[in-house]
Amino acid sequence: MVTNEGTLIDVKKIVEDKKLNLKSRVNSLKRKGIVPKIAVILANDLEASRIYIKKKRQMCSELGVEEVEYMLDEDTTTDKVLEIIQRLNDDNNVHGILVQLPVFKHLDERKILESISPKKDIDGFHPLNIGKLVMGNNCVTACTPKGIMSIIKNTGIKIESKTAVVVGRSIIVGKPISQLLLNANATVITCHSKTKNLKKYTKMADILVVAAGVPHLITKDMVKKGALVIDVGINRIDGKVVGDVDTNEVLKVAKFVTPVPGGVGITTVVSLLENLIEIVENIDN
Ligand code: NDP
Repeated sequence: MVTNEGTLIDVKKIVEDKKLNLKSRVNSLKRKGIVPKIAVILANDLEASRIYIKKKRQMCSELGVEEVEYMLDEDTTTDKVLEIIQRLNDDNNVHGILVQLPVFKHLDERKILESISPKKDIDGFHPLNIGKLVMGNNCVTACTPKGIMSIIKNTGIKIESKTAVVVGRSIIVGKPISQLLLNANATVITCHSKTKNLKKYTKMADILVVAAGVPHLITKDMVKKGALVIDVGINRIDGKVVGDVDTNEVLKVAKFVTPVPGGVGITTVVSLLENLIEIVENIDN
């Protein structure tokens, strides 16, 4: 009989610990008279974005962070969004600005993201912050990759000198997580849809991060024994949420695997609040 070798990582516990830590940091800022405040701009009509914003609202209220929302309708123009962002950039009481992506198709997404002050860019999507990441400088890190790094660190596995393989090269997950792993001295291979013989690379991975958006792309035979597997994928099949990894089978060879749901996804909002608090603490210094 083949039994599971690996452990499903308890990401909920990691998130709860982070929330406790953030709560105490928010309280100490409040004792100094500073109330962290975030502004959220929604310029789309997607149900998923509304759910995500609701989660952010709930976490802000749980942690004692002020939150203001701008829900814009389809008549909104790029100029109108830029005007709101300019006001928020100039407002010293607002420490973080977030534009929920994607925006309505007629809006200039790039121009909008670039107009956010890099100092208030809690999503880490501003080109200046991406540039700093590439240069290995301190910067605001995109939320999903930041959450992934916390999960990896929490396992106690050392990143330095390990072979890390990332499947996916998007600007919100694949590229930044590849760069963060490289900055942490892993040897990094980034795969994508044009990669030939994906298995050849995934099989080399001590740390395998999968962010392709393809249900159960990674099967047991593609994973090295003892690997750490981070499943970023969120896919819906017949109303059920599944990841990019065939979790139950992969657990038979991997040392650690993150669950879906209840894995990387639940670190994203807490990472956003971590970015906000880091920004506020740095203003204070
Ligand atoms: P994108 O669609 O932007 O990027 C997917 C990447 O995967 C692309 O680089 C693509 O290659 C690559 N890819 C697609 N198919 C294959 C394949 N068969 N083999 C190898 N590479 C492949 O997606 P995102 O990065 O935005 O998201 C990826 C997944 O993660 C999705 O399921 C998404 O829902 C989820 N996600 C989860 C988050 C969370 O908080 N947990 C946050 C963000 C995303 P190419 O560049 O050549 O097209």
